[in-house]
Amino acid sequence: MPLTVRPRRKRSTRIIVTLLSGLLPIVLGSVILYMQAERTLQQSSQHTAEEALRQFELMLDNTAQAARDLLPLAGKTCEEVKLALREQVTRRPFVRSTNLVWDNDLYCSSLFGDFKEAVNAGDYHAGKLWLMNGNPVTPNTALLVYRLSDGRGGALTTLDGYHLSNILRLIGRQTLLVLQVGENWLSADGSVHQGELPALPVAQSTLNSARYAFSVAAGFPQGQVWRYMADEYPPLFSLLIFFGVVSGAIGHIVQKRSTSPSHEMLRALEAGEFIPYFQPVVHGDSKAWSGAEVLMRWNHPKEGLVRPDLFIPFAEHSGLIVPMTRSLMQQTAALLGPHSATFATPFHIGINITASHCRDLDLVEDCREFLDAFVAGSVSLVLELTERELIEPTDITRQLFEQLHLLGVKIAIDDFGTGHSSLGYLRKFNVDFLKIDQSFVAMIGIDALSRHILDTIIELSAKLDLGIVAEGVETQAQADYLTAHHVNFLQGYLFGKPMPAADFISALSHH
Ligand code: C2E
Ligand code: CA
Ligand code: CA
Repeated sequence: MPLTVRPRRKRSTRIIVTLLSGLLPIVLGSVILYMQAERTLQQSSQHTAEEALRQFELMLDNTAQAARDLLPLAGKTCEEVKLALREQVTRRPFVRSTNLVWDNDLYCSSLFGDFKEAVNAGDYHAGKLWLMNGNPVTPNTALLVYRLSDGRGGALTTLDGYHLSNILRLIGRQTLLVLQVGENWLSADGSVHQGELPALPVAQSTLNSARYAFSVAAGFPQGQVWRYMADEYPPLFSLLIFFGVVSGAIGHIVQKRSTSPSHEMLRALEAGEFIPYFQPVVHGDSKAWSGAEVLMRWNHPKEGLVRPDLFIPFAEHSGLIVPMTRSLMQQTAALLGPHSATFATPFHIGINITASHCRDLDLVEDCREFLDAFVAGSVSLVLELTERELIEPTDITRQLFEQLHLLGVKIAIDDFGTGHSSLGYLRKFNVDFLKIDQSFVAMIGIDALSRHILDTIIELSAKLDLGIVAEGVETQAQADYLTAHHVNFLQGYLFGKPMPAADFISALSHH
């Protein structure tokens, strides 16, 4: 059955759509978290670089002050200044040694006193700072030398690399942090390197000191953003996965709904899959074809021809029955209209309608359009309303049936005998025909009670001057009985099964 078994989309497509709708919030959320992590790391590296810069400047202030204090002593003999040199070393926490220079010669040192060593100003970045990898006293231990000169005299004060690398280690605990002086740079392990800085691929921040000739670079190694996210965001990831699952479920449900019966029928309606079949109705006496009942079939692309009782209830429930009937009437008009000139007496065309058709007056227009397609007077349109779902009389229905009658449209009560319509009801709606339900016809010659009801209905219709149609006539005995009881019209497999338009039109010419 087309409305429950087979979903519209392929299974694989549905799975992909469900997965995509589940992944979408996860991917989007991850992108946002990634950007947030990048921002956080950028701020962290900026902050680290600023803090390191501030600390190094403070240390250099200390070192530079020692040099400034000593510079006026340059030129005096080492003997005279030795104590002053040592005093600075003792008093200033970061100063490791102090030296005096005259004419580019270091001639007095806090460590050795009298000393002789040439000073090359080119070793100093901007003439001021030299980051060296140790001296003869402490080889392979970083040392930052501050140079201050004035004319022929100069003072050199040194800052112990231990303090510097300590800062790099303490401040840059999460960060890669280096101190750069000219060509040379110091890493957190205390070693001095020359040339290119190490790669800081993530969130690199480089700050130049405005007061001393050094810079600081901070950053993170490759992959740090993911590591950061893995460390910091597990609760947010759980939330994302939750959203993903919810969104996937919504995607799944929406797809299921889009393959719901009414959606499937709307598609079929647009694709023109609902087509009319025609079952002849014959005269009780002559058995000549006097009309036809239009019965809907669903020409389903995969299921083949589908019986109406399998889909009409869904169509009624979703309200689609109204446009479906409209389409059926338009198709019938287009198929039979061109042959209407050859119709002998007014040819009865029965169309099944439901309670949904009686909620407004649209049906009047549909009927007018239908009748316009036929040669005037050649057809009699009969609307069949089943007794099982008879409608409540309201202003709208009164107007509807009045206007329909003005158009010459007839009303038949279908499946008569199975419901409970009163005589008053039949009169109120100005009913023209009763269609005896096939269950009574089937009982002819079998069940006395059913036959009694049948006889009563036939009598009643005669008294009320209503036309009567017997449905489901399958045997000659049934036909004979009904004819003998003056039933006006007969319909059933005995005379013809519901058939496609082409078969019906060609059979019509023989009858
Ligand atoms: P219905 O209006 O009572 O239509 C008569 C049904 O009896 C048709 O079934 C017809 O094929 C079947 N029938 C006719 N002669 C015989 C017979 O000799 N023996 C037996 N056993 N059956 C016979 P079908 O075409 O399957 O339609 C079933 C029902 O679906 C219809 O009952 C009608 O209530 C509904 N239906 C069909 N087309 C439409 C439509 O366009 N609109 C609406 N609202 N309902 C429709
Ligand atoms: Ca009917
Ligand atoms: Ca019926």
